[in-house]
Amino acid sequence: MTLTRSSAERDIGAVERQAFETLASAASRDALESLRVRYLGKKAKLTALLRAMKDLPAEDRPAIGAFVNQAKERVERALEEKLAAVRAEEEAAALAASRVDVTLPGRRRTIGRLSPLTQVRREVTEIFRSMGFSVEEGPEVETEYYNFDALNFPPDHPSRDAQDTLLVDGGYLLRTHTSPVQIRTMERQKPPVRMICPGWVYRADTLDASHSPMFSQVEGLLVDEGVSLGDLFGILNAFAQRFFGERTKTRYRPSFFPFTEPSAEVDVSCMICAGTGKTEAGTCRVCKGTGWKEILGCGMVDPNVFKAVGYDSERYTGFAFGMGIERLAMFKFGVDEIRHFFEGDQRFIAQF
Ligand SMILES: [Zn+2]
Repeated sequence: MTLTRSSAERDIGAVERQAFETLASAASRDALESLRVRYLGKKAKLTALLRAMKDLPAEDRPAIGAFVNQAKERVERALEEKLAAVRAEEEAAALAASRVDVTLPGRRRTIGRLSPLTQVRREVTEIFRSMGFSVEEGPEVETEYYNFDALNFPPDHPSRDAQDTLLVDGGYLLRTHTSPVQIRTMERQKPPVRMICPGWVYRADTLDASHSPMFSQVEGLLVDEGVSLGDLFGILNAFAQRFFGERTKTRYRPSFFPFTEPSAEVDVSCMICAGTGKTEAGTCRVCKGTGWKEILGCGMVDPNVFKAVGYDSERYTGFAFGMGIERLAMFKFGVDEIRHFFEGDQRFIAQF
């Protein structure tokens, strides 16, 4: 079949129309790309027509060449326009899909808070640190020697019993108070000693409103030459006023602990009812109408304790005290159940 100028023009026109029809129905980038390959690529129909021109009479070739090129340019331009339109549509769809509705309530990030126990422990520690006390630590798994013997507990003392003390395999126990740290500190250090020890302690109790098998204490010890009961009162009164408020009063009631002699329990005036025992709602719930709240135990270090650590009890005297951090926190924040501190409920912790 010989190619003539008119048949070439007809073929070109047909291919161009085909290309435009296909273009009209192409709705994606992929479809447009395959159209480009089919009509404009190296093996495409219009390119093939250009190649076939060598069969045309020489005088017709420039005109047909220009005709093919114009057709290619028209298809190319239309293809680019369509491609831009498809891209814009895709972008709009993507934007619509990721649209943020600013009227929806936001997702609130919960921010953790320090447990009231941690707050109280830090505050107590800071008060004693400012009075020159160092902060010591000791193991929570202890020997009977450090937890009882060295602290002058008699061999038949009831708290040694498994009903009160949590025993661990190998003759160890979970310390029932922070007092073993006194012994360990005095073994390491010659007087003067002025230390506190905050830490966890354990008892064989079931968790209820007022008991927990795990709770925390702050223990304190001061040993030097000439330390008297007056120094003990002075330090503890200063602590009570810094922690509970300047107007806080203290009272000391005789008590007994194996490791101190004499021993006392210390009450502070109730900060809720200002020591009156009454609030607007009636009898003060916190001090049960007494106007006082017991907060700690204390006493002058028993000479037997000094003997255990090799201190000369003729030369040195000292005092020790211990308080429950949960008890302080319950009083200070008006919390009536100890177990709230251990349940990890954010709604509880967020109040402090
Ligand atoms: Zn009260």
